[in-house]
Amino acid sequence: MKQSLMRPEFIELAPPVLESGVLYISQKYRTSLHKCCCGCGETVVLQLTPAHWQVEVHGSKVSLHPSVGNWGMRCQSHYWIKNSKVVWAKQMSPSQIAAVRERDKHDQAIYLARVNASKSQNSGYLNMLWDLLKKLGRRLMG
Ligand SMILES: [Zn+2]
Repeated sequence: MKQSLMRPEFIELAPPVLESGVLYISQKYRTSLHKCCCGCGETVVLQLTPAHWQVEVHGSKVSLHPSVGNWGMRCQSHYWIKNSKVVWAKQMSPSQIAAVRERDKHDQAIYLARVNASKSQNSGYLNMLWDLLKKLGRRLMG
């Protein structure tokens, strides 16, 4: 059965059985789980990072950005969750799907590049500190 409403539920670990109509949110693992809203029974796992999905919970209402496109699944369903309502998107053509997937990949690549850049900045700082200590050590020794 198609879901028309979703409610949020905060979890730490995935429950053994997922209830349909519930968007499970694990802040610890930055992951969200739910049964596909089309009723196919598949579990949809979404990563909650700036490059993937963001959830907003207001009381018992939940919104998810961007839309959920289950193109890797047989049902190929595509919907938004806005204020706990499931809003169905029009069926997209294979070329539209390819374009969206390409854009997602691009966004994720940018995000990863940013994360890596901040990591290398940190190691640059450590290298600088290390050089400073070596110079200092040499001066003390000399
Ligand atoms: Zn489905």
